[in-house]
Amino acid sequence: MAESEKETLKRQRRAPKPVSPEAYADAYALAQQVLQGSLSQAEAEKALTARYDLGDRVALGYIGNYLSMKRGAPKVRSTIAADGWRFLLDQFEKEGMLALQRALSVLWEHIEYLPGPEPKLRKVHADYIGKVAQHIEGDPAATLAEQIAASLRDGDEARRRRLDVAPVYPEAVLVATRAFRRNADVIAEVLVQAAGVCQECGREAPFRRLDGTPYLEVHHLTPLAQGGTDTVANAIALCPNCHRERHYGSIFSG
Ligand SMILES: [Zn+2]
Ligand SMILES: [Zn+2]
Repeated sequence: MAESEKETLKRQRRAPKPVSPEAYADAYALAQQVLQGSLSQAEAEKALTARYDLGDRVALGYIGNYLSMKRGAPKVRSTIAADGWRFLLDQFEKEGMLALQRALSVLWEHIEYLPGPEPKLRKVHADYIGKVAQHIEGDPAATLAEQIAASLRDGDEARRRRLDVAPVYPEAVLVATRAFRRNADVIAEVLVQAAGVCQECGREAPFRRLDGTPYLEVHHLTPLAQGGTDTVANAIALCPNCHRERHYGSIFSG
């Protein structure tokens, strides 16, 4: 065999075979089995590689990337085709806009990590970020606070004229927002340590809940959104007045 022919063969062996849409779906089904505990990740990757005659590391992308995204990893390192990303994003979209948004931030991080310009992946990102944007309203509470301030500035007469013709049933809106899953043990521990007394003003909780426990609210000293930890050390129990003051009062805000 001529040297150049050998080289060609070698290159063909190395070049990744295109992955079929059928394989995306199969990879996804195998990954579900890993999540349910009926297969190990290695077994799932082996099965996919064998079924579709894939290269060594291909299954790592289609199963591994999905699994690490499901586990909340902020980045993935295995390369998958643009259509493979579309398939994955479609699956996350079924879980809801927040899941899609999280998956998109992983994709974006991946695009930035790759050395090339990645026009195809950027197109995928652009197409799906549009879907997320359609569902996002700004923070309704923040918007409302601005509108109230404007209404007060506007004068009583104009406001009352508007009230006369305003719709009486509020419009329902869909809101996408990033929130943190808080540790219930932290909240419980802080409440136990406070023993019904506000840790700001030192007064008893203003009322009791239906179950008889004193009503206090657990507040994070450094907000979670600013990188604060969800720990007992970063939390205090406050009465509703003191809690509101922490968030809206002139001493604490701005
Ligand atoms: Zn208080
Ligand atoms: Zn708070």
